[in-house]
Amino acid sequence: MVETKIKCSFCNENAVTRIGYAKLWLCKEHFIQFIEKKVFNTFKRYGLGGKNWRILAAVSGGKDSVSMLYILHKLSKDIGFELIALHIDLGIGEYSKISREVVENLCKSLGIPLIVLDLKELTGFNLPEMVSKTKRPPCSLCGLIKRYLINVAAQELKANAVALGHHLDDLIPYIIKNFVLQNLFEISKLGPKTDTLNGLVGRIRPLYEVSEDEIMLYAYLAKLPFVQNECPYSARKGLEKTIREFINNAEKRHPGFKIAFARSIAKNIEIYKNIGKEEPLKQCKICQSPSNSEICSFCKITAKVAGKPLGSEVKTKIAQLHLLNLNHTSTT
Ligand code: SF4
Ligand code: ZN
Ligand code: ZN
Repeated sequence: MVETKIKCSFCNENAVTRIGYAKLWLCKEHFIQFIEKKVFNTFKRYGLGGKNWRILAAVSGGKDSVSMLYILHKLSKDIGFELIALHIDLGIGEYSKISREVVENLCKSLGIPLIVLDLKELTGFNLPEMVSKTKRPPCSLCGLIKRYLINVAAQELKANAVALGHHLDDLIPYIIKNFVLQNLFEISKLGPKTDTLNGLVGRIRPLYEVSEDEIMLYAYLAKLPFVQNECPYSARKGLEKTIREFINNAEKRHPGFKIAFARSIAKNIEIYKNIGKEEPLKQCKICQSPSNSEICSFCKITAKVAGKPLGSEVKTKIAQLHLLNLNHTSTT
């Protein structure tokens, strides 16, 4: 936020920020409207959801997912979709405890049905215990677990899509990195939406055209509660960090660069889908979840940690949770 005596481009209030690519100075209220309108337009532009859809929003408690949930809650009334929140408690000490509280309180105050999946309750192990038993890098293990649990919950709920809080500054470095490494098919998964296919519920990214700075300012101005601390495992790695610096510099010199880039990727997404196409997904022999090999990564990893694959067991537990929560939904 900038201290300024410059007036908002739409009213007589002092501006709190300048949007370079739109050549606008905006006051608090008009900035909030600007971001919400942008997400609404993103929905329309890319067909992210419609009337009577059931959207499952994955909410970690950080500024991005909390802002996404808050905006989706507003849009759900205008567009007419049903919104359910999902939080995964990874059991990473204080960080997870605070994150869960933030999400539970926010959903309660907004009246959004919430499903919490507690990794320790589901598998007997929290993330740090899994990390020490498998010696895998925490974020890759965490990503694998979250993808699995989110998909199981989305399937159980018969959700049309899973909403993720990824913004421009999350996505562009990965797109560029995959381009540099020529993992072109991977780029097809980084657009505004993926389709439901072979048991994998489609993903939508409502913040596809919003930058990290914009989300931070939105969360602050809308007075949203979010977890301030970073996950203790988080670390921005070499190449991604360099690319982030590059795109931020490019945006400063050429306002609108990031959005133009994101739109071009979205426009060409079909091309990336057809380049270096992966083998169609199989079904895990143990838990029947979509998998790249005979046995899914979740079953493999839990076999290592718990001595037996837990996919089927975890799916049954989630199915039971989901029934409880749907009953709750229908009574609110
Ligand atoms: Fe998981 Fe890594 Fe994010 Fe922590 S930083 S929540 S371990 S992906
Ligand atoms: Zn204004
Ligand atoms: Zn499995």
